[in-house]
Amino acid sequence: MSCGDPVLTFGIIADVQYADEDNGRNFLKTRTRYYRNSLNILHNAVNHWRQVKPRVDFILQLGDHIDGICKRKGSDVGLRTALGPLISFGKPVYHVIGNHELYNFSREQFIGTELFSAGREECDSPAVGCLYYSFQPHPAVRVVALDCYDVSLIGNPKDSDKYREAMEIIREKNTNEDLASPLGLPEENMRFVTWNGGLSSRQLSWLQTEVQEAEKLRQNVIVFGHLPLFQPTSDCVNLCWNAEDVVDVLHQHSCVVCYLCGHNHDGGDAVDGEGILHVTMPGVVERGPGEDAFATASLHRERLDIAGQGAAGSFSVNLRYPIS
Ligand code: ZN
Repeated sequence: MSCGDPVLTFGIIADVQYADEDNGRNFLKTRTRYYRNSLNILHNAVNHWRQVKPRVDFILQLGDHIDGICKRKGSDVGLRTALGPLISFGKPVYHVIGNHELYNFSREQFIGTELFSAGREECDSPAVGCLYYSFQPHPAVRVVALDCYDVSLIGNPKDSDKYREAMEIIREKNTNEDLASPLGLPEENMRFVTWNGGLSSRQLSWLQTEVQEAEKLRQNVIVFGHLPLFQPTSDCVNLCWNAEDVVDVLHQHSCVVCYLCGHNHDGGDAVDGEGILHVTMPGVVERGPGEDAFATASLHRERLDIAGQGAAGSFSVNLRYPIS
């Protein structure tokens, strides 16, 4: 390794939403979704990562890897196709759960798929079946994966405590008959729709322990999840229900370098008051033929560089603890 080489390099991609279906529209009918083309962009990403020197160590897949409409022709077939390029790459891929995974699979089924990264040998999660986890790809780096649909109306059985909790939260904020619609709600309540969710108090305490431990070990923390946590990086409809609580936990310790997410297909980026870089990756599914939307992150001894391709931006942020 030459002295200019990064300590770690990883790929980032979000909202591939692949489906073997003709183009469709988003919920508000304002955007085209290019379901088949998203596979071409995924191939472009993997081909790009193959050429990165010295190498890409792993990939972060930020959720919604296949679209809900895959269900029509078979979710398993759709998932196999959409995982193909990533598997052929041969490096670990760390997934988080998005709403579209839950349109295709129950949480129990999800655990049986390749998307269940918490079950990987190198990943730590607090209990069997938990979808949130962390791993340490370098002694000075901890990557923390969130389950933003822990408390949600999708994925939790109707007779579960989590479903009841989600229903209570959503009913208090969303007065529409159709709970999938944010239309007409005050801006601060628009995120309380069926296709979003939040972190349980149990997950928040786990997150607290993760960042606390990382701080003690002087590890730089990279957090990723499907839903945006910081309003300047998302429209108000696509935020995690308890985004502010999550950010509060991240702010209690000074080890978090960045938060990476998807879901808000336009993408976005901002640095918050405590210096955490928030990057919402642009959604692959809304990029047309000839376009790209993925990034390659290089962790150097003093900083993290994120180099975007196509619609994805490029950023640089200092590490909390320079690596000696
Ligand atoms: Zn989503």
